[in-house]
Amino acid sequence: MNRKHIGVDVGGTTINIAIVTPQGEILAKESLKTTTYLHDNEKMILAIVSEIKSLLAKNNVEKDEIWSIGMGFPGTVDSQKGIVVFAPNIFFENVNVKGIMQNAFDCPIYLGQDSRAAAWGEFLIGQKKKVNDMASITIGTGIGCGLIINGMLYHGAYNTAGEFGHQLMDVDGPQCNCGRKGCLETYCGGLSIVRAGKQIMEGLSVKDIYALADVGNKKALDITRQVVEKLGTGIVNLVNLLSLELITISGGISNAPDNLLLNPLRQFVREHAYSAIADKVKIERSVLGDDAPLIGAALQDETTEY
Ligand SMILES: [Zn+2]
Repeated sequence: MNRKHIGVDVGGTTINIAIVTPQGEILAKESLKTTTYLHDNEKMILAIVSEIKSLLAKNNVEKDEIWSIGMGFPGTVDSQKGIVVFAPNIFFENVNVKGIMQNAFDCPIYLGQDSRAAAWGEFLIGQKKKVNDMASITIGTGIGCGLIINGMLYHGAYNTAGEFGHQLMDVDGPQCNCGRKGCLETYCGGLSIVRAGKQIMEGLSVKDIYALADVGNKKALDITRQVVEKLGTGIVNLVNLLSLELITISGGISNAPDNLLLNPLRQFVREHAYSAIADKVKIERSVLGDDAPLIGAALQDETTEY
């Protein structure tokens, strides 16, 4: 019998569920629409339970081949108690997810924060543990980040480590969803890029804006340059503080052409980071990309405690 794990990545729009090997290979994957289950937390978890069961049945995997189920949520999680404390995008507040899951499965159930799951997946499988100190930054609607310090996930005293997107750029800056003003996310998160794109035309996606910038549209170029400057400033602050070897970028924006994102970002960091680290730190696309949180969630255990 081959040991397998289930990974569940609960996002604001999609819930991805996969059977994952201990080596991080995805054997089978299914998705649910998050929006179908908003405002009914228990219904959402029960839908995940039945999707896992049908995924196992479809792939002829017995329940006792599953060693653990790991779940990533977009918010604050109490890993010890198995409770999602606060995840505003999916309207979860103090939901005992582990309790509901444990009624259906008797293997260990682990809960964690999605950006930390992504960092763990990228560190463990994407980078094969070849770096010790890294940050994985995911730019979706907002900006998520997980920190690996000394080869371990870093949580901080109040379990809030990695709020890269909420670092203060300007006390009088734009209003952020977190309730504060001038956070990094308000300048270069997906939402803010789309908002800025309205100056060009209504309804442009992040991808559209990068495509326009790539053919020389001046307003689109202003937006993509601003992303590089703000994101670059955030990365400079991060690597100066923590002396990281590697920053990986994932999420929709990471698909932007190199000449508009990765190359100018590397140049910005080389020019502005503390000189002893500026030439050393690497900035790369994530190896696992969108699968990082799913694989990382699947491979969490009692030592990771996202
Ligand atoms: Zn904020």
